[in-house]
Order: sequence, then structure tokens, then C-alpha cells
Amino acid sequence: MNRISASLYSTIYPRLPVIGQNAACTVGGWIRFRSRFSDHFQKTVSSWEKSIHLPLEGLREIQRQRLTRSVNIARENVPYYRDLPPASTKKDPDEAIRETLKNIRPLEKRAYRDQPRAFISRTVPRHRLHRGQTSGTTGTALPLWYSPETLAEEYATVWRMRRRVGLDIRDTQLSFAGQMIVPFAQMRPPFWRVNAYTGQTLFSIYHMTPKNLRSYVDAVHARQARYVQGYPSSIHLVALAMLEANRPLPKHRLTAIFTSSESLLAFQRETIERAFGAPILDRYGVSEFAVSMTECEEGRLHVDMEFCIVEVEITEETDEYETGPLLITGLAHDATPLFRYRIGDVGTRAKQPCPCGRLGDSFFEVDGRIEDYVLTPDGRLVGRMDHVFKEQLDVGEAQILQRNQDSIDVLIVPRAQYNEASERSVIKEIRSRLGYDIEIRIELVNSIAREPNGKFRAVKSEVGRNAP
Ligand SMILES: [Zn+2]
Repeated sequence: MNRISASLYSTIYPRLPVIGQNAACTVGGWIRFRSRFSDHFQKTVSSWEKSIHLPLEGLREIQRQRLTRSVNIARENVPYYRDLPPASTKKDPDEAIRETLKNIRPLEKRAYRDQPRAFISRTVPRHRLHRGQTSGTTGTALPLWYSPETLAEEYATVWRMRRRVGLDIRDTQLSFAGQMIVPFAQMRPPFWRVNAYTGQTLFSIYHMTPKNLRSYVDAVHARQARYVQGYPSSIHLVALAMLEANRPLPKHRLTAIFTSSESLLAFQRETIERAFGAPILDRYGVSEFAVSMTECEEGRLHVDMEFCIVEVEITEETDEYETGPLLITGLAHDATPLFRYRIGDVGTRAKQPCPCGRLGDSFFEVDGRIEDYVLTPDGRLVGRMDHVFKEQLDVGEAQILQRNQDSIDVLIVPRAQYNEASERSVIKEIRSRLGYDIEIRIELVNSIAREPNGKFRAVKSEVGRNAP
């Protein structure tokens, strides 16, 4: 959206009647559809639906070619990368990729933030350059630029996964993402709007109070849809309300639930799948369009090899996996190439191929942000604290806040049956991970605040790895 239409949107849209807002959402849906699903998108999806079956060597060869092309473009046309060493000419694709990357220093977000325009390639004409920004969960949002081809390829990764389970770009869906489509002051349903162009029901994620959620449950049952997509934390709230009302969807009415944009937490998955009667297929992607991983039926996140290269800066390793911060290199980014970009997420890469048969790199999980770790008094950084609440059926939502190394505050939205035994059980689970030295304060709350961008964070630590 450009600046003029954005300001029109913020002044006029809220004053329209619901029917007018639905019309606006339909027009918006039509514009999005046209920009995402271009000829380049169609060509890319069909090509990648074939390349996914290539032997590993073939996938690496695609990566090598695309990496070499990116490096060449960057050396000649991107001011920041003027002094980038040339790409390796080694025959073996694996060796060539390794050698090319080895010569490139990892890119910090700071370096990008200091001079973002120095990353824009002169090869893309200005009028074809789209402007975006990072979601800015922490710190300030970064400006981004991308070409229509990059966007098309980002969506090619999304739709290769969705088409695999039999879905099509025109299928009906329920969407729970960050758009503000329902005016904040609105107190009564409907808390959703309709994009009639593709049969999309867009739910507001900013109106989910316990009272309002009842009407969400009605709408989930009433609205036509083949699949659900959106933020796991928002879908999870609706799922809890559905189970609370004893109104899950019939099994297999939906084909799948696609979560993205936040870490899918352990305690969310089971509840969502039970309430919506369909499996979750998660995806890891970023606003920078420089990485994509898509989940398979075995629960692993497969790197979309044609789209990116993912390296792990190993901090922990066993025979089965290696864990550490991720360095991502986008292969679809002709407008602002990013090489070995330290994205700030931690991943656990599998050392053995996935039983599903798909080749290439696969991850057991990508943890949330690096700062989403608790630091214990004895100096350990403990991640994936969301697992604490996985078996806690009496807990609706939970968030861990840490302001100093000696204690944590645990905010809990209790479900009806929550009692002292539930609290003991939560504390026991936390102690089993953090030990007995840390003070644990439990606070029961009605709801947990989202970040300004509508996202949920399971752990917010001011003393973790990213502390000043
Ligand atoms: Zn797999």
C-alpha cells in the first residue's frame, strides 16, 4: 500500500458501514491476488513442484547457480556489496556454496539498519520496487524493498506446500492475521470482514475478549472454508473458546491449518488441531523474504532449497542434530540481496534425512527470537519454555517475563478448572527446567497483551542473550 492509499484507508475505512468495509476488503483481496499470483508465480510453482523431487545434488546445483547469480548482481549493482569476493568456481556444488559463503562476512541487522538504501540493487527500476518493513517484534521496524518476482517466489514456497495437500489459490479460507479490518472501537460482532473475491473471511485478532470469542466460534462454524491460516496465538485463542463451548469442528471438514509469523508453541498445536479437526502445517518465513521452511507430515520444517540457503552457527551438537543461531541467504532477492544475514532466530537442524522422503536440509524446530530465553541465576540460557505449558490443560495462555536474573514472573490466563494443584504443576514443570535457585512469581490475569504488531511472545526477557 502506498502512503496516499494508506492515509485514505485510515481515515475513510473506519467510517464505512460493514458492507462498505467488506467491499473494500474485496477490492484489497483482488489487488493482493493480482500482485501475488502473477505469471512469474505460476511458472515458479510449477518448476519447483518438479525440482522438489530432484536428488540432493540437483537441489544444491540450483542453489549454487542462484547464489552465483546473486553474488554477481550484488558485486556490480549493490553499493554495500561493492567489495564482495567473487563466487567460487568449484565444480562440486556443495564445495562451491561453502567456499562462496565462507568469504562473505555475516551480516548483522545493525549493519543493515545503519544504511538500508546501500542494499538496493540498481538493476531493479525504481517503479518496480515495492516497499515493505520488518514486523519489528523487538526494536524498530526496518525498511525493506523487494521486486514483484521476489514476492511471487515467496508465495511459491507457501503454495507449493498448500497445493501438496490439494488446495488451490482460489479456495475459501478463514484468516487470523495482523490486518486491522475491524475498527478498534467496535463493540459488537461481526468481528470479521469478507473478501468475496477469493472467499476469505478475515477475522480481527484485536477483538478477542472472552465475551467476543463466542461470536468467533459461531462464525468459524458458519463460514465456508477449506483451510485456516494465520498467527498461531490468535487461532489458539479461538480453539480454546471452541473447546470451552464444546463445539469443535467436525474432523476433516478443513484440509489443514497453516500457521506462520510467530513460533508455533508446543501447547498451541494440540489444542488447535483438536478444535479445528485438521492437522497444522507450520511455516517459517520472515518479512525480509530471505528464508522459507515448510512443514511436512512428519513434523519437520524443510528448507525450501530453491529459495534460500540456511546455515547454523552451531552452539550445541549431538549425533542427531545441531543447534544454533541461523544465518540466512536469500536466493530470490534481486532487489536487496542479503547474504548470511543473522536473522536472530535459533534453529535445530536434523543430521539425518527426514522419513517423509523429501531431500535437502530439514529442521526439527526453529525457536523463537534469541532473546526469548530465560537466563538462570547459574548462567544457563533456557529456550523453548513454552513446553512448560504443553500438558497444562488448565492454562489458557501464558507468558514468562524476566526482568532480572534471579526471578521470573509468569502470567497465566486460567481456564475455569484452574486451581492450586494446577499452580503446583506449573511450578514443578518450570523448576524441572530452571532449577530451584530462581524465584517464580505466578500472576493470574484475564488476558496477555500482544506486541504492537499484534504478535504474541511466550517469553520476554530483559536479561537474555541480547541484553545490552
Ligand atoms: Zn519431512
